[in-house]
Order: sequence, then structure tokens, then C-alpha cells
Amino acid sequence: MRTYRLAVVKGDGIGPEVTEAALRGMHAAARRCGFSLDTADVDLGAERYLRTGEVLDEGTVSALRTHDAVLLGAVGDPRVPPGILERGLIVALRVAFAQSVNIRPVRLYPGVQSPIRGVTAQNCDLVVIRENTEGLYTGGGTLAHAGTPHAVAVQNSLTTVAATTDTVEFAFRLAQERRRRVTLCHKTNILMHAGQLWQEVVDQVALRYPEVEHDYVHADAMCQHLPLDPGRFDVVVTDNLFGDIISDLGATVQGGLGLAASANYNVAGSAPSMYEPVHGSAPDIAGKGWANPAAAALSAALCLAGLGEREAALCLEAATASVLAELPSLAGPGMGSDTAALGERIAARVMDVDPAQHAGGGGSLMSALSRLAREGATAVI
Ligand code: ATP
Repeated sequence: MRTYRLAVVKGDGIGPEVTEAALRGMHAAARRCGFSLDTADVDLGAERYLRTGEVLDEGTVSALRTHDAVLLGAVGDPRVPPGILERGLIVALRVAFAQSVNIRPVRLYPGVQSPIRGVTAQNCDLVVIRENTEGLYTGGGTLAHAGTPHAVAVQNSLTTVAATTDTVEFAFRLAQERRRRVTLCHKTNILMHAGQLWQEVVDQVALRYPEVEHDYVHADAMCQHLPLDPGRFDVVVTDNLFGDIISDLGATVQGGLGLAASANYNVAGSAPSMYEPVHGSAPDIAGKGWANPAAAALSAALCLAGLGEREAALCLEAATASVLAELPSLAGPGMGSDTAALGERIAARVMDVDPAQHAGGGGSLMSALSRLAREGATAVI
């Protein structure tokens, strides 16, 4: 029987609750499709940092590297100053494992109510492909004369043709498997140097995909188009900062943070990819059973797709979507069941759901990602 080795970082706050629920669904999907998951818990996050003073050590990075994929719950705690875990753990792992592409689906599932009038399951199914290791997130810069009236902050932004090409190439490959449209989102009118590089890379890569259309939208204009007319987008490719922001907007459009999944994807397969819900540790609801596990379950479905297990990914996605459609509310006590019970419901549904039921019309992301993973999707630079 095929067995995948999965490292599980449950993390902090609601991280353990939603990860355990997602794992239930994942194991059920594996059982249904005839393979197994060998999971290993890895202790990382705020609790460990507060206990030991250590964020991430070389030994843990090496141990994670031996796995086929990493499943991450959430890390964070109000007692830890901002930046320590985000930079020292999440960004560090993305860089260490060359997870140069961040995949963030923005899909409204049937039966889920968007807070935006007019957004429906038929017109909201796009994917944000965000460059994941560069831009303003490289951390370079200085703060001189800090805490004085003469303080000067310089925050560097890095854009390389190599990482941009990897990201854009992946966006085109994905679009080719879907509705064949790529939109570059940037601020080429203000960030002229980085913007020019991005546009040139898109124009170059587009030559290899003549059947994929491409266009351009400014990041500020995207904040109008995405909620009001999501149907105009198929695959949106963008830099690290813009991707971070517009995919949170996307999360709201698709029903909230409890539903938004993501993958930190190593396109070449040279190190494990890491799958995590977009939300954080939500300390305000931790331990109450009020967290919606759908974002974690859909991230787990992306993980199955990234392992090339198309049928299992589709089953877990369909089961999650079908349970979501039954919830009276998408978060909190109004969901009618707690996080663990929802995990059990998703797992039970995995066994009898019709995976085609929620596959989506315009080329399912789960199917497309599985196919690219199976092809051993390598960037053509
Ligand atoms: P962190 O600092 O770890 O990012 P945070 O609370 O600042 O934590 P989020 O965890 O993203 O940020 O939470 C933002 C809001 O969304 C909170 O009110 C939280 O309760 C809510 N929320 C986040 N995830 C979920 C979820 N899975 N289900 C229900 N509500 C959620």
C-alpha cells in the first residue's frame, strides 16, 4: 500500500483543534482511496518558543525535510512579540524548503453565503498564486535612530527574475488546466522597477502558452474587482505583499477565514510543501470548539492534491463543502456543532460523497494540482 510521510505541526490556539479535525478527514480519504498516511507530530510554535526560547532549529528543519509534506495548524500567541514566529518559523520554512509559490483558492461553495451580494458559486472560483519568498518579506532594511524623532526606516523589497519566473510559470500551467486566463496583479504605475520585471516575465512566459489569455490589474483596483466581479478571474498571479492582502479579501468573499485554505508549494518537488489554513491561532476562540475546521480540511485536501492523490483530494473537498452547506453559521457557537464533531462529520461524509459533486465547472484546482504534481511539475526557465 502507498504510504505518505506527513509531518504535522499543530501549533497554537485553534491550530491543534482544526488540524485534528482535518486529519480525520484526510485519513478517511486515504482509506477510501487505498493508501495510508504515516503522521509525525512536530513541536513548533509559540508554546515551544515560550518554553525553550527556540523558534526553529536545524535539527527540526532536517527532520521535516524527510517528509513528503508538512501540515501546519496555526502558530501565534499574544505573549510572543509580532514577527518572531512569522519570520522565524513560517517565512524561514518557506525559504528553507523553496516553497516559492503560495496557492490560495478563492472559491464559494454551493450553499455557502458570501457576505457580498451577487457573489455565487457559479461566479466565484479563482486561485491567487502569490510569490512566497521575496518582495518586501525578505526582511532586509534598517531602522536608524529608533525611538527618536529622527528615526529612519528602510524596508527593502527584492524581486528576482528566477523566483518571479517560477511563480508566473506555475500560474500559466495551472491556468492551462483550468479556464485559461492569467491576471497579473501589481502596482506597475508606482513600483516601476519591480513592476516592469513582473510584466516582462509574464510577457515572456505567455509566449510559451499561446492558448492562455493574460491581462493586468492594479492591486488597488483588484480590491474592487475581486468582491464585485470575481468571475472575471481564473488565476491571479502576484507578489508576496499584494498576494497576502488580496487573498485575505478573497477569504472574506468566500465566506470568511474559517474557509480559506493555502499551500506553500515547492514546484520542483525538491523539498516538502507545507499546507496551512489562512487564519491564525485565533486566541479569542481557542479551546471553545468554535473554530470552523473547513480551512484546515481544505488545506489538507490541497495536500492530497499536491501528493498527486486526485480522487482523495476531491473526496475531502466535496465532503467539506457538503458539511459546510449544512451549517447554520460559518463560525462560533452558531455552527451548531463543535470543531471536533465537524471533523467527524467531514470524515464520515468522505466515505460516501460523490467527488464529482463539488469538482467545479471550470477545471477543478484539486484536479489541476494533482495533475501538475504527478507530472513532477518543474519550472521551465
Ligand atoms: P494570529 O495572531 O495567530 O494571526 P488572530 O486572532 O490575530 O491570530 P486570526 O487567527 O486569523 O488572527 O483570527 C482573526 C479572527 O477570525 C478572530 O476573531 C478569529 O476568532 C476568527 N477566526 C479565525 N479562524 C477561524 C476559524 N477557523 N473559525 C472561526 N473563526 C475564526
